[in-house]
Amino acid sequence: MPSMASNNYHSQPKPDSFARRQKLEQQRKSLPIASVEKRLLEEVRKNDTLIIVGETGSGKTTQLPQYLLNGGFCRDGGVIGITQPRRVAAVSVAKRVAEECGVPLGQKVGYAIRFDDATSSSTRIKYLTDGLLLRESLLDPSLSKYSVIIVDEAHERTIHTDVLLGLLKSVQKIRSQVANKLMSNDSIKGKNGLLLKAGHGDLLKPCHGRKLPPLKLIIMSASLDARVFSEYFSGAKAVHVQGRQYPVDILYTLQPETDYVDAALITIFQIHLEESPGDILVFLTGQEEIESVERLVHERLRQLPEANQKLLTFPIFSSLPSEKQLKVFMPAPAGFRKVILATNIAETSVTISGIKYVIDPGVVKARTYDADTGIESLDIVKTSKAQALQRSGRAGREGPGKCYRLYPESEFEKFENSTTPEIKRCDLSNVILQLKALGIDDIAGFDFIEKPNRIAIVRSLESLFLLGALTEESKLADPVGHQMARLPLEPMYSKALILANQFNCLEEMLIIVAMLSVESIFYAPRDKLEESRTALKCFSSPEGDHLTLLNVYRASTEFLEKNKLTNSKEKAEKNLRKWCKENFVNSRSLRHAQDIHRQIKKSIEQMGFRITSCGDDMLLFRRCLAASFFLNAALKQPDGLYRILSSGLMVQIHPSSILFRSKPECIIFDKLVRTNNSYIRNLCRIDYLWLPELAPQCYGFQE
Ligand code: ADP
Ligand code: MG
Repeated sequence: MPSMASNNYHSQPKPDSFARRQKLEQQRKSLPIASVEKRLLEEVRKNDTLIIVGETGSGKTTQLPQYLLNGGFCRDGGVIGITQPRRVAAVSVAKRVAEECGVPLGQKVGYAIRFDDATSSSTRIKYLTDGLLLRESLLDPSLSKYSVIIVDEAHERTIHTDVLLGLLKSVQKIRSQVANKLMSNDSIKGKNGLLLKAGHGDLLKPCHGRKLPPLKLIIMSASLDARVFSEYFSGAKAVHVQGRQYPVDILYTLQPETDYVDAALITIFQIHLEESPGDILVFLTGQEEIESVERLVHERLRQLPEANQKLLTFPIFSSLPSEKQLKVFMPAPAGFRKVILATNIAETSVTISGIKYVIDPGVVKARTYDADTGIESLDIVKTSKAQALQRSGRAGREGPGKCYRLYPESEFEKFENSTTPEIKRCDLSNVILQLKALGIDDIAGFDFIEKPNRIAIVRSLESLFLLGALTEESKLADPVGHQMARLPLEPMYSKALILANQFNCLEEMLIIVAMLSVESIFYAPRDKLEESRTALKCFSSPEGDHLTLLNVYRASTEFLEKNKLTNSKEKAEKNLRKWCKENFVNSRSLRHAQDIHRQIKKSIEQMGFRITSCGDDMLLFRRCLAASFFLNAALKQPDGLYRILSSGLMVQIHPSSILFRSKPECIIFDKLVRTNNSYIRNLCRIDYLWLPELAPQCYGFQE
């Protein structure tokens, strides 16, 4: 029996029955990758860099790290790090692997994502997000504790994956030089300008009581095209793991659908009422949409005869609390059908068994960057052909399946073949800040797997300069640039916290940054629109969404604290969930915001900031918001539209905003989202004249 040490924030595997362990072992052995275990270990031994391509569900993510551990790749106390583009995947896979190994999570097998670290000194298999590994490299440039790094889901080509590949290439080169004792002078420079001085850090000293071994690098991808990775890593070897795939019937609509959410709903019920047993996987674009579809499914179910009500919904999206994530993997009770409502996380990152039907509306939420305006937005865009194929493939894992594409076949033909790497379509400020903090100054000269657009680099450098993070020579500014690089937040949020420290409203800004970091605090079901509006009124501030969010956060904290005086913690939290429901507040999002709040507060305190409040002086707080979000300032036009001052882009206020009706003259906003229109979300009213006063570097008069 494994030991069952308890820790207070993660549910532990139940004392496992012999039968359960046997079943898991049997499942492991039957995965396609199991038949090539020996060969894979051999290849990893022979090659410092290896590319593994394999169909989703073949066992790459869960099995390879275990093979490596058993194969002796951690012998010197080294850690196997496996990066994931998504938080949910890192957490759910780590839990699964801990269970397969029969150990408590956080010990031998653990995970680390931003704001949540479940690892310990005994962790040998560590799942983490690609963004977090980048952050770790700031503290430990040679990534000395890792003996193997697996970059998983590399085909997704997130910006963090791309930058990480560049860094790892450099780290690997330096570590092999050290290992080969080629080093004679007092510093070595990696191809990407990563400079590691002799005697600096623990590069040359034995680290963690062991000599620094060369770094094994494994790139894993679900797409068949390994060429681009192989070329980038000087002809690295690629191996293919054969998967299993049953035929999938692809069905298209005859006409384009005007409302894909509605079309998805109709399809769910059509399958449920007419098709043979098997679970349904629906691809949606985000938490808000998933939660609204979930409510609509329940609503329609209630209208069906009881015998037809055996349908259960399971959402899965990035910010879903981790204890909820695992539910999606549990089989439905006998006689019930499961509907999984997922973001594109279910495309390749996690494999859920039992799926026979896939509903694919053919859209995905993606970061989009317009280098001309320097504006990044979240857009609902068409998937690529490769994505559509991956999605339909989810229906044929265990037997023949069906995929309902909610668009005509002629649409499919117009899709791009593959998705453009994120680095080509997003704001680079955050990544540039981190590279600069690593001492890599020549961003354009960095050996990226794919070069970002030059104008995008210039734009991002410019906005970092305007935010005070960089000097005119494009060096990290002291102390603001260093402070901003230390905070695990978007540059504008970091800037807001640093300024709030000076404005004496750090308490308020911490709450705002946490609340802005989660999706949709409020929800408004279609059938209760009026009620939800009335509920919102008791929190709403005429100054805008930021102050409204502040009121909600404070009201909920007050409610919880008061409740804890007379109730147990569990009961108080239950009451809070009830309070949320009555007030149309999304309790999942609120909890997530509270978590983030706790974590950022810790980082801020570690930086030596004192948390003070501006009390009732909301004018001061709004001025602080204007001084931080000035790049997102917009001015009302005679036709009621808003013009973003830094770019000239015309936008509308999103209907969910408190300021949707009142339409003040001048505002700052948090995000731009695009569907058919360009909407700005989370607004705060400001005075136009504050801009030249508080952000003269951007709005000052030219001499
Ligand atoms: P790959 O990385 O090749 O796509 P994985 O290693 O993620 O494959 O998955 C292998 C198998 O493990 C899949 O059949 C999947 O159903 C199962 N699996 C993965 N995670 C979980 C989980 N959290 N709970 C139950 N089964 C899981
Ligand atoms: Mg995987």
